[in-house]
Parts: sequence; C-alpha cells; structure tokens
Amino acid sequence: MDATTTPSSSTTATTGGERFFAGPFEGSERAATVIAQVTTFLDGELAELAREHVIDHEHGADRALLQRVWKRSRELGFYGMTLPEKMGGLGLSVLDHVLVKEAIYATGSPFAPHVFGELSGPPRVGALARFATPLQMQRFILPVAQAEKAICFALTEAEAGSDAGNVQTHAVRDGDDYVINGRKRFISGSPFADFAVLVASTAADPAQREVSAFFVDLHAPGVRVESGYKTMAGQSSTGDIVFDNHRVPATQLIGEPGRGLALALGRITVNRLLHCPAMVGLATVALRDARDYAMQRKQFGRAIGQFQAIQHMLAEMSTDLAAARALMLHTARQLDAGIDGRAESSMAKLCCSETAFRVADRAVQIHGGEGIVQGRRVEFLFRMLRMYRVLTGTSEIQKNTIARELLGDTR
Ligand SMILES: Cc1cc2nc3c(=O)[nH]c(=O)nc-3n(C[C@H](O)[C@H](O)[C@H](O)COP(=O)(O)OP(=O)(O)OC[C@H]3O[C@@H](n4cnc5c(N)ncnc54)[C@H](O)[C@@H]3O)c2cc1C
Repeated sequence: MDATTTPSSSTTATTGGERFFAGPFEGSERAATVIAQVTTFLDGELAELAREHVIDHEHGADRALLQRVWKRSRELGFYGMTLPEKMGGLGLSVLDHVLVKEAIYATGSPFAPHVFGELSGPPRVGALARFATPLQMQRFILPVAQAEKAICFALTEAEAGSDAGNVQTHAVRDGDDYVINGRKRFISGSPFADFAVLVASTAADPAQREVSAFFVDLHAPGVRVESGYKTMAGQSSTGDIVFDNHRVPATQLIGEPGRGLALALGRITVNRLLHCPAMVGLATVALRDARDYAMQRKQFGRAIGQFQAIQHMLAEMSTDLAAARALMLHTARQLDAGIDGRAESSMAKLCCSETAFRVADRAVQIHGGEGIVQGRRVEFLFRMLRMYRVLTGTSEIQKNTIARELLGDTR
C-alpha cells in the first residue's frame, strides 16, 4: 500500500500482518496459527469486500454487510473464539487473546472490530452465559453467538458516566414484568443491535443504588434507538436508547436483583486490559505509516527520515510503544496467573491509551501537511486514538483506581 498517494483509500488498505516488534512470539502456537489465519482473512477477503463496498473507518458497513462479515467469520471459526469453550470458544488465555486482538487491529482493517463481534457479538455475552437461565440462553445468547442477532451493552446515562453506579433508568416491578423508563447515552453498536444488556436501577428509592441487569429486545414496543451523532473519529455506530414504559418479563432479569453492576462489570479488570491491544495495534499502524513516509518523502534533496529530528521522533514512538506493549503483555500474564490485577489493568489502559495517542500525534507531525488532510490514515488514527483516553474509563478514573489500590480508600 502506498500510504502517501491514496488519501481516502488509505483507510481501507491493510498491511499484511508484518510483525513490527522483533523477538520470539509471546503467545501459544495456537494463537500464532489463529493470527496467521485471521490476518489472511482481513488482508484478503475482507479487504476486497471493503474495496467493493467502499467501506473505510468512517464509512461503515450497513447491518446486512456486517452480518455477512460476522457469519463468514463464524464459518472460519473466528467469530466465537472468545466464548466459553463449551459454547465453541477457543479457551484462549488472556495473553493469547491480547496478541490475537493486537494483530487484528494492526492490519488497519475497518472490519477489525467485527471479526469476533467486539461491538455487538460474542464478547458482549460470553461472560453472562454462566448466569443466564436456559430461556435467556435460547432467546438472547445463542442467537448472538451464532451471528444471527447483535447485542449492545447499555450502562452510561447523561448523569451516570464515570459514576456508573448512578444510573437513573428505572425498572419497576409490576406483576410478572418490569416496567422500564429512562435514557441510555453513547451506546456502541446500538444503531444496528437487536438486543441490549441493560443496566437499570431496581431500587424502590431512586436515591439508593440497587442496580440490576436485563436482556431487552430493542425491537419491542416502548423502546427506540436514537442515533445520528458522530464521534470525532467520524463513526456513527453509537446511539442513545430511550425506554418509555417498556415492559420486560421478569424472566429477562440477569442473575439476582441488585447484582447488575457486578455482573456487567464482573470481568472489568480483564475487559479493561482487553481494550489495550486495539490501541497498540492502531498505534503500530501509525508508526509503520510514519516510518514508510519518512523513508519516501524527500525535502532538501533527501528523504526526511535522514533528518535527526525525524529519526528521534520515530525512535521515541517506537520506544514508547514497545514499553506500553510490554506492560500490556506483562499484565496479561499476571491475569492468566490468577493475580487480581486491578491496578495493573488500569495502569495498562492508562499507559496504552496515552502512549498510543502520543504516537499518533508524532505520526501526524512526520507527515507534515499531508498528515492533517482528512481521509489520510494517520489523520484518522490521531482522532481515533484520542477517543481511547476517554472510552471505557477515562485516564483520570484509571489514575483514581491505581491510587486507591496503592493508598486504600482514603475518602
Ligand atoms: C464512542 C463512545 C462509545 C461508548 N460506548 C459505550 C457503551 O457501549 N456502553 C456504555 O454503557 N457506555 C459507552 N460509552 C460511555 C463511556 O464509557 C463514557 O463516556 C465514559 O465512561 C466517560 O463518562 P462521561 O462521558 O459521562 O464523562 P464524565 O464522567 O462526565 O467525565 C468528564 C470528565 O471528568 C472527569 N472525572 C469524572 N469523575 C472524576 C473523578 N472522580 N475524578 C477525577 N476526574 C473525574 C473525567 O475523567 C473526564 O475528564 C461510550 C462513549 C463514547 C464516547
């Protein structure tokens, strides 16, 4: 791919699974095999599909095309790989999971989040399978695992962002049902989802914090998705979900009442870490693009990569990224060893998100004017990687967690 001469198509191109960091592969043989297969899928069939339908990071596929990707990925054995083994998952260690996901994102493919249904598929339900009743399994979890249906995770509200326990969406018991009213904000995948895992208050007194989780059908009466806003990365796969006297049978309550936040965030430590490979993978794309551009772009009669200022930027980017990646892999090994790892996962998320953004910023600088033209891949990566400092717990919230683990709760 020529990252320098094809501005808008540059966001769709992929780069062939080149290993940027030298050294022996850190994961299992099985992970190495999965990586080889999945990058071939992304760089071949899915790159072709993206070209054919003019899909890039900012011009996403519609629901029908996404479902084609999910189903094909399922046929090839990738879609359900994060599910529990008894549901057909690969039983990957955290380390293998991180490495596979990093490789997927390092292809630069706009389909990266869809290969194993990260936005709306198996990772959203895998951890809930343990708590689900047979009915919930049949109606909600299996259709998602089989790529027939899509599901989103609805926790955030206007007044419940970082303070996730402050949800005001209210579920009131009425006979065999709960009646739900409220509004969820910023819900990824909701514009194309069929179901949601909804986190709502079941407290009689809304000032109390009794938070429960439900499976809800987004096509049922009394619920609607309002999309239409775009994130700074140009995507519009996020929406609000409005509940207006929406009735759900009590059989759709997940686990015990009052356990919703714990269920929803149950694997928060692992989940927090599992966002890191996306950032590291995308930052690797930015570093690679910057390196390639520095070797090819000429000013003052020579490649800009021959100027020490550019070399130093590349050296810093590479060093910072290698350090963040090492922390990510170290934390994965700790979690695999059964260590609680709450502070470590927060450190990894903080470090990877801040580092990845710095790498993207320097990548833009190395591209000069070309780097700030919309549609150029580094320009997109800069905006995309800016978002990760907010998403899934802001940098400030990660620091709070790390400090709390160090100091104990001093409030
Ligand atoms: C594109 C996108 C996708 C999302 N997807 C989902 C989804 O699928 N499901 C879902 O439920 N949510 C989702 N969210 C919501 C996301 O998790 C929240 O935006 C995020 O947790 C921050 O909450 P907030 O936006 O309300 O910011 P706020 O909590 O209002 O924070 C504003 C600022 O105050 C700081 N701050 C807040 N509290 C403290 C404190 N105690 N100490 C220090 N600083 C503090 C924050 O760090 C931040 O800088 C998504 C958001 C976006 C933008």
